[in-house]
Amino acid sequence: MKTSTPPPFDPNDPAGIDDLLSADEKAVRESVRQLCAQRVDPYVADWFERGTIDDIRGLTKELGSLGVLGMHLEGYGCAGMSATEYGLACLELEASDSGLRSLVSVQGSLAMFAIWRWGSEEQKTQWLPPMAAGEAIGCFGLTEPDVGSDPGSMRTRARRDGDDWVLDGRKMWITNGSIADVAVVWAQTDEGIRGFVVPTTTPGFSAPEIKHKQSLRASVTSELVLDAVRLPADAVLPEVRGLKGPLSCLNEARFGIVWGALGAARSSLQAALSYAGERTQFGRPISGFQLTQAKLVDMSLEYTKGSLLALHLARRKDAGTLRPEQVCLGKLNNVRESLEICRTARTILGANGISLEYPVIRHMNNLESVLTYEGTVEMHTLVLGQAITGQSAFR
Ligand SMILES: Cc1cc2nc3c(=O)[nH]c(=O)nc-3n(C[C@H](O)[C@H](O)[C@H](O)COP(=O)(O)OP(=O)(O)OC[C@H]3O[C@@H](n4cnc5c(N)ncnc54)[C@H](O)[C@@H]3O)c2cc1C
Repeated sequence: MKTSTPPPFDPNDPAGIDDLLSADEKAVRESVRQLCAQRVDPYVADWFERGTIDDIRGLTKELGSLGVLGMHLEGYGCAGMSATEYGLACLELEASDSGLRSLVSVQGSLAMFAIWRWGSEEQKTQWLPPMAAGEAIGCFGLTEPDVGSDPGSMRTRARRDGDDWVLDGRKMWITNGSIADVAVVWAQTDEGIRGFVVPTTTPGFSAPEIKHKQSLRASVTSELVLDAVRLPADAVLPEVRGLKGPLSCLNEARFGIVWGALGAARSSLQAALSYAGERTQFGRPISGFQLTQAKLVDMSLEYTKGSLLALHLARRKDAGTLRPEQVCLGKLNNVRESLEICRTARTILGANGISLEYPVIRHMNNLESVLTYEGTVEMHTLVLGQAITGQSAFR
C-alpha cells in the first residue's frame, strides 16, 4: 500500500480523471481551450442573442488551422488524431457553445466522414483537403420536413437521366446549410438510398436559413431545396448503398456528442459553483445551504460518471471495439444528464439563471436540440431496448 500524500482535491475533476489522459491528449485539449477562450467565449452570448456567428468563415479557417476539422480522419490533410483527442476537442468546443461543436461535428464527422469513408478517390482529393483546412464548409442532408427519426422513408429522390443524376426534394434542419460549399445529400434511387456530393453552386440548389430558433442560435440551420439538381454520374458516393451510409456517419457524430454535451454541463456546473459561492441569502453564501450542496454534488457526480463513460467509449473506439449500441448508450446518457445539470444550474442562479449574462440558459436551450438531433432520446432507448431484449419496438 502506498502512503504518499494524494494531490489536492479538484472540484472541476472530483475523481481525478485527468490522470487517465496522456500529455499529448492534454495538449490537444489545451490548444482547443485556448482558441475558444480567445476567439469564441467573449462573443458567443452576443452571437446567440443575435442569432449569428460573426465571421464564421474566418473562424472555420482558424479551426482548420488548429487541425480540428475531420481531426480523427487519416490522410487528405486531416490530422489523424485519436478518438480521445477528438472527444476532448468536442468537449472544449461545446463548453463554449453547442453551436460551435455542431459546426465542427457536421463538418468532420458527417460531411467529411461520408466522403472519406464512402467517396471515390477523386471526391476525396477534391473536397477533403479544403474542408480540413476550413476553406470549404460542408453540410449533411438527411432529415426532411416529414421525415426525421425514420430516414428510410425519405422522399428526396435521385433519378438517372442518361449518365446524369437529377435530384428533387427537400431537406430540413440542416446545420451549416446556408454557408456550405458542398452538401452530402441522401436520396432514394432505384438502387436504394444513395449519397450525393452536391456543390452548392449547382443550379436548382438553394438553402434558405431557418429563423426563430430558440436553441443553437449561434449555429446556421437551413432548409435544402433540391429542384431538378442535375449532377454528373460521378457525384454519387460509390462505396455505399442503403441506410448503412448515413447511419455510419451519424455514429461518428454521436461519438463527438457523447463528449461535447459534457462541455455544456461543465460550463454550467462551474458557473453554478462560482455563483453559489458569491451569492448571499439569509446571511450566508447559498453554497452553504444543504439543498444547494446536494444539487452541486449530484451535478458533479453525473458529470464525473459521464466523463468516465466518454473516456471508456473513446478507448474502445481507438481499439476498434466500439459498437454502435455503445455510442447510443453514451449519447443517451450524457446528453440527458448534461441537460439535467444545466437545468439544475439554472435553479442555483435563480432569476439570473435566465439571463444571457451567464452561460447556463444558453447551454440549456442548446442541449434541447442536442437531445433531439443525431437520434432522439427515444430512438436511442429503442436501439438499446432492442440490443438488450432482442425485440425491436420501432414499429
Ligand atoms: C438545431 C438542429 C440541427 C440539426 N441538424 C441536422 C443536420 O445537420 N442534418 C440532418 O439531416 N438533420 C439535422 N437535424 C434534424 C434532427 O436530426 C431531427 O430533428 C431528428 O432526427 C428528429 O427528427 P424529427 O425532428 O423529424 O422528429 P420526429 O422523428 O418526428 O420525432 C418526434 C418525436 O416522436 C418520437 N418518435 C418518433 N418515432 C418514434 C417511435 N418509433 N417510438 C417512440 N417515439 C418515436 C421522437 O423520439 C420524438 O420525440 C437537426 C435538428 C436540429 C434541431
